[in-house]
Amino acid sequence: MRQEHKRLQRERRTVAVMIGIYCADHHAATADSLCASCQEFQEYADRRLEKCPYGDDKPTCANCPVHCYKPARREQVKRIMRYAGPRMLLKHPVLAIRHQLDGLRKAMHPKSLSRDQRLQKAGKTPPAEPRG
Ligand code: SF4
Ligand SMILES: [Zn+2]
Repeated sequence: MRQEHKRLQRERRTVAVMIGIYCADHHAATADSLCASCQEFQEYADRRLEKCPYGDDKPTCANCPVHCYKPARREQVKRIMRYAGPRMLLKHPVLAIRHQLDGLRKAMHPKSLSRDQRLQKAGKTPPAEPRG
């Protein structure tokens, strides 16, 4: 199994924290366990992140030109992030600020990347040899 990029790890944690905040305030969940619906949504988000084509250059999902979520899921994640984003600043300020900074990244659509760039992002080839 290839090693997961730091950006993906951070996004996974951010999404989990946001779902946790949303679920704790809206559903009958405890602080450390999600309701069945949010649990299922988190698993969906994890699967999306596993297949994310961006690697370390990942934008936040909200700013992604691909947006690989199904439309209903996309609405769901927007709802969760709108609610949990400002609250995360109080409970997890470092994670929240990193997420804001990650949101400033611009990402090209994967189709615009060359094949070599895509392979490199996926960690399947070493960086190109310097010329000269
Ligand atoms: S929405 Fe974009 S950034 Fe988020 S997991 Fe899907 S492809 Fe990756
Ligand atoms: Zn819930």
